[in-house]
Amino acid sequence: MTGASSGIGEGTALALAALGASVTVVARRMDRLDGLVEQIEKTGGHALAVGADLTDEAQAEAAVTRTVEAYGRLDTVVANAGAMILGPIAGADTDDWRRMIELNTLGLMYTAHASAPHLLKAATDGPRKVTDLVLVSSTAGRMVRGGGGVYNASKYAVTAFGEAFRKEVTQRHLRVSLVEPGAVETELPLQNRPDVQERMYERYTTMECLRPADVADTIAFIVTRPRHVAVNEILIRPTEQQ
Ligand code: NDP
Repeated sequence: MTGASSGIGEGTALALAALGASVTVVARRMDRLDGLVEQIEKTGGHALAVGADLTDEAQAEAAVTRTVEAYGRLDTVVANAGAMILGPIAGADTDDWRRMIELNTLGLMYTAHASAPHLLKAATDGPRKVTDLVLVSSTAGRMVRGGGGVYNASKYAVTAFGEAFRKEVTQRHLRVSLVEPGAVETELPLQNRPDVQERMYERYTTMECLRPADVADTIAFIVTRPRHVAVNEILIRPTEQQ
């Protein structure tokens, strides 16, 4: 589970652990990950914290290797770590663009690439004879509004990558699924300038947003389908979101 130190990733790690999965929780903030492992273990689950900056391919690979060493195989990967830094294209600080493309797009691709051999192996040798790669995109990967062009681009790329990979591996029983949440109340706005953060948090007050547990439920549904059922894509939004 990448991006597990907060928000959707944390919620999904808890949900999958509650279903009996041994979970590796991956992000940069080790204090948060250690707290999450403690929480999972208190309820009888199994979890392992691995600190990694997923924009670094070697660290993404190492996180996968640690998981396989710890648990013996890899059944499910949820590539969720991401950043959303909003603002117009003209005049943007292009460092913000690199942060998003290097994490949301390339980081997710490194995670998928490092996981693929293990997921394909477990789809043959593992007890369920099917494995899952869930890619967390966004409504921003399906529709564009002005003011977040590079976030949109980073997530549209996930759609193209995921569909190509799905076609390549689905007959080998590795299911590739895309989850596209609308507004979820998390720490995502915090990476923005204070004025942008304020506008983003204001948006949360205009409707009853999704909670991380709502997206976690969706992901848990996807990865618990029977072997012959592949949920390719789910768009999940707050009811009040237009
Ligand atoms: P959070 O900010 O709460 O979570 C982001 C996670 O990504 C954190 O665990 C963070 O951990 C991790 N992360 C950030 N940078 C790196 C890095 N370089 N290497 C490893 N991990 C990293 O936001 P959300 O839970 O909302 O976001 C999760 C995903 O959901 C993202 O892909 C986002 O685009 C997507 N999404 C969110 C929506 C929303 O409304 N909240 C809507 C649609 C999609 P750490 O800082 O410890 O590394």
